[in-house]
Amino acid sequence: MDAVVIIVGGGPVGLSLSLGLARYGARSIVLERNAEPAPESRAVVIWPRTQEIFRDWGIYDAVRARSRLVDELIVVNARNERTLLALDWHVVDDVVENPGALIIPQSETERVLRELVRANGSCELRTGVTVTGLRQDSEFVDVTYTDGTSEATVRGTYVAGCDGAHGVVRGLIGLSLQGMTYDTRAVLSDELLDEDFDDDVSVRARFDKPNVRGAFKFGDRTWRVIAAVRSDGNDEELLSEDAHRERLRDLFGDRKTTTLWRSVFKIHKRHAQRFVVGRVALAGDAAHVNSPAGGQGMNAGIQDAANLAWKIAYALRGTGDGARLIETFDVERREMVTDTIERYTDRLTRVGIGFSPRAKQLVIRAVSRAVRGRGMQRKTCRALGMLSGRYTKSPIIDATHPLAGRRIDDLRVEDGRRINEIRKGEPMLVVVGDYALDLPHIALRAPPKRWHVKAPVVLIVRPDGCVAWVITKPTRGKIEAAWNTAFCGTKEL
Ligand SMILES: Cc1cc2nc3c(=O)[nH]c(=O)nc-3n(C[C@H](O)[C@H](O)[C@H](O)COP(=O)(O)OP(=O)(O)OC[C@H]3O[C@@H](n4cnc5c(N)ncnc54)[C@H](O)[C@@H]3O)c2cc1C
Repeated sequence: MDAVVIIVGGGPVGLSLSLGLARYGARSIVLERNAEPAPESRAVVIWPRTQEIFRDWGIYDAVRARSRLVDELIVVNARNERTLLALDWHVVDDVVENPGALIIPQSETERVLRELVRANGSCELRTGVTVTGLRQDSEFVDVTYTDGTSEATVRGTYVAGCDGAHGVVRGLIGLSLQGMTYDTRAVLSDELLDEDFDDDVSVRARFDKPNVRGAFKFGDRTWRVIAAVRSDGNDEELLSEDAHRERLRDLFGDRKTTTLWRSVFKIHKRHAQRFVVGRVALAGDAAHVNSPAGGQGMNAGIQDAANLAWKIAYALRGTGDGARLIETFDVERREMVTDTIERYTDRLTRVGIGFSPRAKQLVIRAVSRAVRGRGMQRKTCRALGMLSGRYTKSPIIDATHPLAGRRIDDLRVEDGRRINEIRKGEPMLVVVGDYALDLPHIALRAPPKRWHVKAPVVLIVRPDGCVAWVITKPTRGKIEAAWNTAFCGTKEL
């Protein structure tokens, strides 16, 4: 039987995983309950790190064609129109190909991804089917699903549970989402303004109220509004049309708005105890849910897919220790979720809902002053763009060097091309400085200071763009040994 991966859930993460697997030569079947993508806009931003992944997989142009690239983030105080924050994404020009945020509603992202999946010979999308069970042994996983009238079973070598926060796969492998739920909820709505503001402002916010409220522009006259409401308040009052209109007035003044959709959400900080059990992995909301502050949920899920796709594809080749390679998905992504994503979104959430209006304004003032400096602009863009974060606990990464475990800066090499443009999602050796190597590699004359490397060194860059190893005083033997560890023997040098 052909090795195949069964993906439960065709949301943005499941569809991305299918395309990522195809990029590395693996076949997959996506089982999705809904015939069409959900119509709500939900995640409206694709950050630079996710764009980079789409580039590696050759699907960036299709997504880019349906979105708007915003290279400046301007936040104003909606009370007095004063600029609180102005971020110029071009400060990270030297390390990313796409300095900016792609603005595209999630419904549209899913539509493009569905089209790409349907056009790819290695992917199959079955819609209108609901997964109800799975059973795994040491070789295969059998997944049971129903189309409403009859039941069927499909067999895969691996299964990925990408079925969202309320999915079934997590429970079927004995796990749950653990963590906490904030005692403040969020009212989210999409608003169409009769007349838009005549400026380039992307975010309008109010920090002078006990509960923060903000609006993010994501389309022509279209704004996503998010407002915190305390759980202990009177629901009827807090969620009434009058209260909603008052929040909108705070953000848009007297401008008329039409509410396209509105909903109230609990805000969580939760993740599964493990992301891998045997031949089954969890990715996206099925594995972790966090606050919408910072807009990282969908992006984090697609980044899970980028970590998992090449590992499953390499494991399917049957050489080396594929099981160990897939186990590292659990170690790496759980660390990224707990130490970077949860920490970052939690900090933003606590400022928004926990601080008094006065404390909030002091923080905002301090941040807005600090971000005027280029160094802080870069740091903020890197955090927001999901370009920072590091794997330090993985057995296939040599975390003794501060550069290892991080995404490689997408620097320009001597011929003017960028590292990722040459790599195109393949693993690669990067030789920094003067070292003669008779293996395919990218040569970089001098390292940037922040890399803390003393040339000559050789870097091993994985398919997902992560630096696995920094080999100082390189020799052929050292490179071979490190490569073997980084890929658990599944990929020849
Ligand atoms: C209102 C709102 C606003 C948000 N804003 C942002 C934002 O600004 N930025 C951001 O990055 N994230 C945001 N998010 C989070 C983002 O939407 C999620 O992180 C993202 O949808 C996760 O993708 P996923 O593919 O993991 O799960 P989902 O999108 O939940 O997809 C899961 C899929 O699995 C299918 N499925 C479920 N069970 C089964 C089954 N048994 N059988 C078959 N199929 C099944 C579902 O139909 C669904 O299509 C927001 C979320 C909400 C609700």
